[in-house]
Amino acid sequence: MSEAFSVLWLQAGSCGGCTMSALAADDVGLVAALDRFGIRLLWHPALSAQSGPDALDILADAAAGRIAVDALCVEGAVMTGPNGTGRFQMMAGTGQSTAAWIAAIAAQARHVVAVGSCAAYGGIPMAGANPTDATGLQFLGFDGAGLLPRSFVARGGLPVINVAGCAPHPGWLVETLAELALSGTCALDGLGRPRAFADHLAHHGCSRNEFYEFKASAARASDRGCLMENLGCKATQAPGDCNLRRWNGYGSCTDAGYACINCTTPGFQDCGAPFLETAKIAGIPVGLPVDMPKAWFVALAALSKSATPQRVRTNAHADHVIVPPIHRPPRSP
Ligand code: SF4
Ligand code: SF4
Repeated sequence: MSEAFSVLWLQAGSCGGCTMSALAADDVGLVAALDRFGIRLLWHPALSAQSGPDALDILADAAAGRIAVDALCVEGAVMTGPNGTGRFQMMAGTGQSTAAWIAAIAAQARHVVAVGSCAAYGGIPMAGANPTDATGLQFLGFDGAGLLPRSFVARGGLPVINVAGCAPHPGWLVETLAELALSGTCALDGLGRPRAFADHLAHHGCSRNEFYEFKASAARASDRGCLMENLGCKATQAPGDCNLRRWNGYGSCTDAGYACINCTTPGFQDCGAPFLETAKIAGIPVGLPVDMPKAWFVALAALSKSATPQRVRTNAHADHVIVPPIHRPPRSP
């Protein structure tokens, strides 16, 4: 059997949620899911037995190129403050910042993978005034450069691969690593996200789609109606196959009554309004579906509302089906 594809995982400014999400990969958990594709964890701060000097030896070997790192996975934003020193987050026992360790190992790794929107674009740690000078690996928000320059290309020929999301679906991570291990490459969109999931919208496949079509909107989180008009859902603008590839095999944000906050997009953390309220100007949502001009949306919404069946209108404001569909025999032409 060929040599395993090795993954080294570092945690920067992170809540640990990306690891928590990854642990639920497939039906077997992260380690076994990766093993199916010949991928092994060289070291992970929460999952590996090595700690202290043993762990630092692995990092030093990786930074010096003495051991091969096929993919460096970084979880969390990189703290570059104060004044560019990175001393807000030091790697214990080394006298060096986590930022310096990441940069050193990234220079040796075949691929560099940002796990989650914090590592990809800065995410939650850079919200507001960004007091720690948090940044993503290659992006700072939409346009800026992160810890690594925008021209950075890893040894394998790809820029930083941004498995965005807060947290990302475990399948996005496993599938990306599997693609790298099996083919050596991965198709990315303009923001470095793997197209395998980023070519979809979180709106696709939502169980509330019938309510969306008729603009039959929920007023409370427990209502069955669409969450876009009142409760902040941005899934019509959010890259991700969250409602096609269910979480833990079953649910999704919107299934649970929680609006999509567009967590796969740079800057989602500073959207200018409470996450669970829809920002509007003159009664029209500020965030409209991608590709749809405002005038079309307004006209379509008015038409849809005037044609809403009573069943849909009633069920939109209930937490269970009040009015079932009418059953008719099939018609012959
Ligand atoms: S709740 Fe969100 S994802 Fe679901 S149909 Fe409405 S806009 Fe689309
Ligand atoms: S539904 Fe929206 S908020 Fe939830 S994981 Fe997907 S992109 Fe993120």
